[in-house]
Amino acid sequence: MNKLTIKDLDVQGKRVLMRVDFNVPVKDGVVGDDTRIVAALPSIKYVLENGGSLVLMSHCGRPKGEKNMEYTLKPAADRLAELVDAKVTLAPDVIGPEVKAMVEELKAGEILVLENVRFYKEEEGKGCTAEEQDAFAKELASFGDVYVSDAFGTAHRAHASMVGVTKYIDQCAAGFLLEKEIEYLGKTLEAPEKPFVAIIGGAKISGKIDVVTNLMDKCDAILIGGGMAYTFYKAQGIAIGGSLVEEDKVELAGEILKQAEAKGVKLLLPVDNIVADAFSAEANTKVQEGDIEDGWMALDIGPKTIALYCNEVAGAKTVVWNGPMGCFEMAPFAKGTFSVCEAVAKSDSISIIGGGDSVAAVNKSGVADQMSHVSTGGGASLEFMEGKQLPGIVALTEK
Ligand code: AMP
Repeated sequence: MNKLTIKDLDVQGKRVLMRVDFNVPVKDGVVGDDTRIVAALPSIKYVLENGGSLVLMSHCGRPKGEKNMEYTLKPAADRLAELVDAKVTLAPDVIGPEVKAMVEELKAGEILVLENVRFYKEEEGKGCTAEEQDAFAKELASFGDVYVSDAFGTAHRAHASMVGVTKYIDQCAAGFLLEKEIEYLGKTLEAPEKPFVAIIGGAKISGKIDVVTNLMDKCDAILIGGGMAYTFYKAQGIAIGGSLVEEDKVELAGEILKQAEAKGVKLLLPVDNIVADAFSAEANTKVQEGDIEDGWMALDIGPKTIALYCNEVAGAKTVVWNGPMGCFEMAPFAKGTFSVCEAVAKSDSISIIGGGDSVAAVNKSGVADQMSHVSTGGGASLEFMEGKQLPGIVALTEK
């Protein structure tokens, strides 16, 4: 891919318009988890240390195109000010004459954080015309001499601050964070070192179908866990009791099993499960092989499946993981997810963790630092694994 990275830019004396992902959890006006802000620091510091000034853009929450101060970026700007040795100012708005004046006064080494870009419906382009969205993007673009995108979490969205602005700025580049995501997700999926094992879990098959089908052409083995496994069970005629099922996807699940067989891909389903008599951490539980009786539901993979999956992972050279193996939020049903997690950490493989819940599980298990790459984007990493082109990345490569 022909794409500039931040290091290709000469930022000396330039105003750098940078899209970051400061969509952080906020409670009582204070940032709860600053991981995303910290993740953007290398790009931010690079610009400041090389004589540039910064105009930062981000969204936070879902203000739905209206100025709603419940979603102000003030907590994020305050946290950023604590993390960098630079003057950080929050603009009172996203665009407009007052903001423009603040941008023009910005000196090298200073940061101006624009308000939440989603205060304007033009950001997402919902409920406005294409011309209105374009005008919004053009005004944002006028705030920078060069543009850097470091917001992988929104790279699957063709929003004004991700795509629209690139039309009006000559030099557009990927920041360090975005570059790392492309490096791992892109290059690994393009040319994985074999054996390549994918672990796919989570609640629903519908959200992961495209991932499974895309990976089927690249993987040696696909290990299925989580609620989605039981739609596959149903397709095979195995009784599932009260386990999660998507009735309208049973046929599709059957098709996928057939496809895997035809392609010679090992598609593994749980051989045993932890079943419970209620969806509760206090429920009675037992290990169940084969048919699941009425009144019981599978909430985690069982010990034999853990051994089987960990064995597959141990021999892998590349592992991609998206979605937990069970209801890991409840202690009695967390073992499958954490055991697989530890096996991935221990394995001698390039390991890529994508997707909100698997990232949460990896962080909770304390082995995140042993993974090659923990993706910062849930939806974006999923679309990458589906083999889709992400508009926020394509926009940088087109120049
Ligand atoms: P997803 O967002 O599709 O990756 O799904 C993640 C959610 O799936 C987590 O909240 C898990 O608790 C849930 N989950 C995993 N396994 C099961 C299961 N066997 N039954 C019901 N929910 C599950």
